[in-house]
Amino acid sequence: MTSIPQIVLSSRNEKKIGEIAELFAPYGIRLIGVREFAHVPEVEEDGDSFAANAAKKATEVAKTLNCWVIAEDSGLCVDALGGAPGIYSARYAGEQGADALNNEKLLQELSATPTEKRTAYYVCHAVLSDPQGRVRLSSEGRCGGRILTEFRGEHGFGYDPLFLVREFHQTFGQLSPAVKRHISHRAKAFERFIPQILRLFDESTPQAL
Ligand code: IMP
Repeated sequence: MTSIPQIVLSSRNEKKIGEIAELFAPYGIRLIGVREFAHVPEVEEDGDSFAANAAKKATEVAKTLNCWVIAEDSGLCVDALGGAPGIYSARYAGEQGADALNNEKLLQELSATPTEKRTAYYVCHAVLSDPQGRVRLSSEGRCGGRILTEFRGEHGFGYDPLFLVREFHQTFGQLSPAVKRHISHRAKAFERFIPQILRLFDESTPQAL
């Protein structure tokens, strides 16, 4: 029988935590947010890729807490901007997590870019670290779309009101959270990741853990 140990989610972004928790809920897996451990320091995201940042966030917290940790690093890559803001998505305008300022800067940077060249994609890279700080699993998901010239919708977070999802012709700001849960970059990364986690704990002997 699969026995899932306690798993901590290395994120302080409440919206992101909510989306990830909902992806795990159908499997009966409850993740514990890193905020519940007051002594865990912030991890500096100084890697040069989504994968490197996700691995750092997972392994550092795992070693501090001596437990299994999941982390993800995600962001928006705009083709006309050479992939920017990319790994700097959360602090594109300078201040960490300032969604409104980030969106304004994005609109500004694309102000001379015509509709057909405003293509973009979200990336999510997820990592599982074991309690010793070794990366045991990783998975990446992408979701393609286009950056609008105006905001549409109130759902989601970050760049969602500007990100028109290719297949739906609506932004993640307009689409319901239930739809985003099925088609987003995060959903795609975790739809492969969760079965891998279940298999890992199913196949692992207590010694291997
Ligand atoms: P991280 O917390 O360092 O991974 O930064 C993630 C940043 O990427 C967020 O602050 C947003 O700016 C952007 N981002 C990632 N995923 C999403 C999403 O699903 N919707 C909107 N913005 C996102």
